[in-house]
Amino acid sequence: MKLHRLIAPKGGPTKLFVGGLHGTESVYTAPILEILATEEIGTGEVIIVPCLVENSKYIAVLSEEYYQSQEGTELLRLIHDYKPDFYFELHAYGEQSYSRLTDPEREIKIGVPPFIDLVDGILLGSIAPILRREFSEHDFCVTIEVPKCKCDKAEIKEELLQILRIGLTIATKREALEKLRIRYPAQMKRAELLFQQYYRNRLKPF
Ligand SMILES: [Zn+2]
Repeated sequence: MKLHRLIAPKGGPTKLFVGGLHGTESVYTAPILEILATEEIGTGEVIIVPCLVENSKYIAVLSEEYYQSQEGTELLRLIHDYKPDFYFELHAYGEQSYSRLTDPEREIKIGVPPFIDLVDGILLGSIAPILRREFSEHDFCVTIEVPKCKCDKAEIKEELLQILRIGLTIATKREALEKLRIRYPAQMKRAELLFQQYYRNRLKPF
């Protein structure tokens, strides 16, 4: 497993970016995270794992089973070792999964809120509730899903990098939310509302 560790001269939060969590999605996510790993970071420390697993049996990250698999235990180890304050999980989905991922009834059907389409099929949502327990309430954790069929389009790649760059350069959770709200006002309002409805008052987005 390849890991990029970027350390800024100025102290600050630790951020973990992980892509390619299962199946062969790293084909799509790794090139983007490799670009991110060449960029300037703001403060603190950034850990980038472009490809957690190259080719594995697909196990949903929402399931307990995932965290018992080799890639799942590896992910838990990364989180325990680096104790990130910010966590970005990057997935790639097939076109046929779009309606399932963004289904307004997703919480009723499978127990987790739907993803929000930020723009052009780039989806944002909370991370698996099982994994969220590994973080503190002050941490910032999001899942980003990118459409496989658009991954090689320059404008999609750039849009995605803009989102990830927000993560790379911000110093606080508040700043992260503010920057995302400026870029995607209506979408973030909806995403935050869904998060609040799901976690009630136990956690604030994200
Ligand atoms: Zn995935």
